Amino acid sequence: MAIVETEDRYPGAFDIIECPVCGSEEWTHLLYQGVFCARCNTQCTLREPAGDQGFIAEFDSKYTWSVDHGEAIPETDEYGARASGKWLGTEADGYERYWFSAYADHVDEHDCEWEPAWDRETKNEDD
Ligand SMILES: [Zn+2]
Repeated sequence: MAIVETEDRYPGAFDIIECPVCGSEEWTHLLYQGVFCARCNTQCTLREPAGDQGFIAEFDSKYTWSVDHGEAIPETDEYGARASGKWLGTEADGYERYWFSAYADHVDEHDCEWEPAWDRETKNEDD
């Protein structure tokens, strides 16, 4: 139920969010269960950022499937396999990604080599 309300509060958000695990832009909304990546099943939840226009997106790899070019978010004891990011803006003006990181970056920064799909793609282009 909360997801339905959340999604309605951020129109267009799922048009611009890329899956950090596999890079897909297709999201499936399962009523009462949440929003999942159509390709790798990573869960995405939106919430409101304090004092800014935009939204915070939380990604959870708990249900992520193994797919080609997908790299599941690293798991941590404290937070599970999660990453989050903040997007600023409105649907009319467009949203822009402000920051993004895996929780593993904060709890075990030396071991976390995971990067979201869009950063991996940039690297491949550079090679
Ligand atoms: Zn995905």
